[in-house]
This record gives sequence, C-alpha cells and structure tokens, in this order.
Amino acid sequence: MRSGDDIELVSVTKRYPGGAVAVDAVTHLFRGNSYICLLGPSGCGKSSTLRMIAGHESVTEGAIVLGGRDVAALPPAKRGTAMMFQSYALFPHLSVTDNVAFSLKMKGEPTARRRARAAEMLELVDMAAFGDRLPAQLSGGQQQRVALARALITDPQVLLLDEPLSALDPFLRIRMRAELKRIQRELGITFIHVTHGQDEALALADEVVVMNRARIEQAGPAREVFNVPRTAFVARFMGGHNVLTLPQGQFALRADAVRLEAEGAEAVVRSVEYQGTHVAVTARAAGDQDILAVIPEAQFFAAPRMPGDAVRLGWRDSDLHPLTA
Ligand code: ADP
Ligand code: MG
Repeated sequence: MRSGDDIELVSVTKRYPGGAVAVDAVTHLFRGNSYICLLGPSGCGKSSTLRMIAGHESVTEGAIVLGGRDVAALPPAKRGTAMMFQSYALFPHLSVTDNVAFSLKMKGEPTARRRARAAEMLELVDMAAFGDRLPAQLSGGQQQRVALARALITDPQVLLLDEPLSALDPFLRIRMRAELKRIQRELGITFIHVTHGQDEALALADEVVVMNRARIEQAGPAREVFNVPRTAFVARFMGGHNVLTLPQGQFALRADAVRLEAEGAEAVVRSVEYQGTHVAVTARAAGDQDILAVIPEAQFFAAPRMPGDAVRLGWRDSDLHPLTA
C-alpha cells in the first residue's frame, strides 16, 4: 500500500552534459518512515540519485513523486526534503546555535523561536551543551551532529545523507550510525543514506537498495538482500558469498555455509586467514574455482589445515541460491 510519505522515482534518468548516463530509467518506491540505504560501488549513480531527490541536480527525464506530487521541478526548499552533506559545510564564523538556526533566520522567524527550535534540535543530537561554540572548537564527530541538527530543523519528511560517516574513524562511525538510526526512529521520517559500505547498509537499513551501473540491481530488507542475492554482482558486492558455476547453473553460496568435511568436492587449500572469531579458508576446487569457507575458530583449530592440504568441501543443496545473469 502506498502512503503520502512514500517517495516514488518513476523512470528517472540523469544524463550529464557530455553524455554520461549516471542514472538510467530508475523506478522505485521508497517507503515512508523507513531507513533506506542506497548501496553500490563508486560511480554507480548513488549521489546523482540522491541529489535529484534533494533538488540539487536537475532530472533529465522522469518524475519524483513525494507527498502525492511530482517535485522534480521544485527548488530544494519546497520539496519537504533536506540534505546532509559529506563535508559538513558549517559556517565558521557562526556559533553552533546560529548554524543550526540559519534556515529559520532565512525564513524570517523571530529570534526567540529560532533559538528555542535550535535548542530542541541540539538536544536531539546530544549537543545541547555546545550551542555557544564555534565549529572550529568541535571535533569532526561533533561537527557532524551539528550538521544533522541543521538539516533537521526544517522538519523535512525525508532526510538525504550522502556518505555521512565516511570521514569518521571506525569507532565513531559505529557509534554515529546507531545515533542516526535512533534519530530516524524518534522523528518517524524517512532517511535515505548513501554508502558504499555493505556492513553499514546491513547494520542500518530497513531496505537496502543496491545500485550498479546507473540502475537498481536489487532492493529489499537487509537480510533478504544478503541471504538471497539475485545476481553475481550483488553476491560479490555484499561479500561473504561464493559465486559458483556448477553443471546445473550459477549459484551464490554463503562462505559460512561451506564446511571442510570427509565427503564433498575435492579441493586444495590455498590460503588460511585467522580472523579472530573465524578462520577464512580459500581452497581451489574443480574448474579452477576458488571457494571460500569461513569456519568458526574452535572448529577450525580442532582439525587445522595448511596451504597445500587436500580437503573436501561440503554444503547443503538448500544453501545454493540460483543467480540470474
Ligand atoms: P556515486 O555517488 O555512486 O559514486 P555519482 O552519482 O557521483 O556516483 O556518479 C555517477 C556517474 O556520473 C559517474 O560516472 C560520474 O563520473 C558521473 N558524474 C557525476 N557527477 C557529474 C557531473 N557533475 N558531470 C558529469 N558527470 C558526472
Ligand atoms: Mg557519491
């Protein structure tokens, strides 16, 4: 069922001057009040898609329907969307409070109201104590929270985030992504978050939308996209899968579904990587196919293998997921 908060892309194409097709007739319904991750390798068209939804890039062909109307021709401020940029782009000479309240000032809202709203937003992003500081007096993670507050103060239906965590160190990145999810839930609006990291998408998304070469290759709940990739590209990009060519066709097989057993396909171990909780064993099987088996640590060390060892690889037929070309 559709609702007023859904965002629908109808055959949306972006062609840049010079001929590159960055987004190729993409049609998709993004559900309202959900956390969506737009995932794909560099250059596949994620930012172009996001910028067209935000209104920062023109739509070459197609419609963008939000709240029941085509917003493709509206300026950014009239769409009900807000964008948080990868570079936080805070005004260096304005205090945190004034940065957050900036768009309300542009709208001519009275000072008292602006400050009250900015305080609410800073509370939401856990930055209430920092209102009087200048951006230069904040850490990268804190600047990002301020940028988030500034984007949210306009009450958008949809918040668009382009690789929002990429500048943070790994520890902060994991903390901040939990915060983003909490804030999305608390506000009950839609977040469309662009990332090239599959772990980030799996951790955050209600819906993962995988793009490849200007098109959507697969979309669905995180577990579904991970467990049942439809194409070899999605299986490889999500990681943790083998793509196998067997006599009966091409299949995805999760690396943690492959076992070293007494029975099964003959193979020779090529590499063994200790990964802490697991050990990654790559073995070459018939047809020169390298098959990755990810084995729980204790199980591996009960019968350790070395490169050059002959092994047999087993899996259940039900773990083979057919791929379309
Ligand atoms: P992603 O965000 O997935 O890395 P982009 O949407 O930025 O991908 O880019 C998609 C394609 O469009 C790339 O081939 C890129 O070089 C091209 N592109 C992006 N922006 C422009 C632009 N302003 N002018 C011309 N080509 C562009
Ligand atoms: Mg990009």
